[in-house]
Amino acid sequence: RATPSSGAAPEGPSEQGIFATLGHIIRFTSELRPYYLGVAACAIVTASAGLATPFLVGRATDTIVDAVQDGRGTSVFPTLAIFTLAILAAELVSTVVSNLGGYTGDVLSNRIRAILSTRYLDKLLRLPQSWFDDEMTGTIVSRLNRSITEVSTFAKSLANTFFTMLIQTAAVLVISAVYYWPLAVLLAVVFPTYVWLTGLTSRKWQRLEADKNHHVDTAGGRFAEVVGQIRVVRSFTRERHELDTFTDHFMRTDSTTKEQSRHWHTMDIIRRGVLNLAFAAMYLLIFWRTLGGGFSVGQMVLLIQLIAMARMPVEMMSWVLDASQRAVAGSRDYFKVMAATEVEHVREMPALPARADGNPVLEFEDVRFGYGDGPDVLRDVTFDIRPGERVALVSESGGGKTTLVNLLLGLYPLRGGQIRLDGVDIATLPHDELRRRISLVFQDPSLFSDTVGENIRYGHPTASQHEVALAAERANASGFIGKLDGEFDAMIGERGLKLSGGQKQRISVARAMLKDASVLVLDEATSALDTRSERAVQEGLVQLMAGRTSLIIAHRLSTIAGVDRIVTIKDGRVDEIGSPAQLATSGGVYAELLAMQRRGEDSYLNAYAE
Ligand code: ADP
Ligand code: MG
Repeated sequence: RATPSSGAAPEGPSEQGIFATLGHIIRFTSELRPYYLGVAACAIVTASAGLATPFLVGRATDTIVDAVQDGRGTSVFPTLAIFTLAILAAELVSTVVSNLGGYTGDVLSNRIRAILSTRYLDKLLRLPQSWFDDEMTGTIVSRLNRSITEVSTFAKSLANTFFTMLIQTAAVLVISAVYYWPLAVLLAVVFPTYVWLTGLTSRKWQRLEADKNHHVDTAGGRFAEVVGQIRVVRSFTRERHELDTFTDHFMRTDSTTKEQSRHWHTMDIIRRGVLNLAFAAMYLLIFWRTLGGGFSVGQMVLLIQLIAMARMPVEMMSWVLDASQRAVAGSRDYFKVMAATEVEHVREMPALPARADGNPVLEFEDVRFGYGDGPDVLRDVTFDIRPGERVALVSESGGGKTTLVNLLLGLYPLRGGQIRLDGVDIATLPHDELRRRISLVFQDPSLFSDTVGENIRYGHPTASQHEVALAAERANASGFIGKLDGEFDAMIGERGLKLSGGQKQRISVARAMLKDASVLVLDEATSALDTRSERAVQEGLVQLMAGRTSLIIAHRLSTIAGVDRIVTIKDGRVDEIGSPAQLATSGGVYAELLAMQRRGEDSYLNAYAE
């Protein structure tokens, strides 16, 4: 029944070279094939046009040498002028087409960025809730930015220069083989040696880079937290500390960079040493053969130019390999996320069982659950809620109430037992189907930085302005919204920072109201509010609960006094179930709470827990 969704998670490039990385990125962005082909075509034309010059110069040289020897002097000048024009034409073609290639490369790298970013968010939206429990938001963002910048920079550098040079080098290899095979052999040995020497340094370099990236991403995570909770930072005067911690992460990347760079540049000296030895040998070969009459002077000029052309890409190789290494290391974390296991979700709607009126809407049966490898948070939890019934869930703080809500939403798999909605095991329901039927009001209002109207509309994007206004009215929110500058179009700031707690909560009540699901869950919806705003929100909540099956979590008596039944949880198990009147005299958690209130003590269950 449960099928793993779109399983084709790509294998991330591990410690791979430039070509493997390139191949991986190209496969991952296969819809950009026309751009890749365009870049390659431009590279081929640019390279061919670039190759014309050495040939023309070589021919011109021979023409001059012959003319001077024969004493024909200026008579060959028109021929030379034609050669010059041809060189000019070739260079012009090369310039225009290489810029065309550069343009294509810019577009390509931007598209790569868009594709990589979009796929990342798409992937994140499919990852299990537990994945997010271990990650800082800022880290997730930082990792994305870093990976994408490095991959797209790499793609751009490849498009702009490297392809052309590679093609030229291959051409030079073939041409020199035609003229004198030992040259080709030398060239053919230089390239792989150079790449091999780079490969030697790569493993260590990448390990260090991964370490560095870890610091940068962690710093990014903290950065986002500090900015997001700037008031906390200020009130505890921790600015200095936060700044120092942040700096420290970068200081530590400093020493890693030094080690990395030393390593890289030492190897570069060795690599280039080898390269220059090989080139010196090639020059000597050419000179020797020219002296022996094997080459004309023109051919010698041609070959020297060709070899100089081959030399540039080999040297550039060092730079491109560096970019490629960054792309490999940078994209490794990216592709690791892309390869993470997605939530298993059901796509097909199961056949719904026939139901008699009055059958429970929600049933928890022997529910057992714990986070990760941790101990059980809930054990043998069994209770049900009948249509239209209001059931309050009471426990000490940390007793597992929010956990139960998470399970009801299908955010985590159960360790045992079953949760049924309208008689159907929620594990067999498609997630969107399940979540469509549940409206939630969280303790923390969790609004978005958008207008009042868009926030209310969040669970029902197609709602009309009238419906939005009606929901606000019933949530007891129209009063204050009417006074906002712009009313429903007023921006509320990040997470609703421009509103008071009670106002934010009334907006989230309106949001739940508009979603109009049959099951309502209030997870400490008023616990963050003072008594007066609580009353204002409470009025909205009463409207919201009307006619809906409701699960109410609250730690204030005022909120749960009017419910039909109370379920108390103790040590992860259901302790008592009964009407408020029954539980008031049973001597359990609820009775204790009542007694405490009667004595005029704090009516918070949290206080009870201590
Ligand atoms: P309540 O809502 O009743 O105050 P919770 O359901 O939030 O309690 O928490 C129940 C227990 O589960 C607590 O011990 C808490 O530490 C733990 N817990 C809650 N959320 C997570 C999580 N995402 N990962 C691991 N443990 C968690
Ligand atoms: Mg909670």
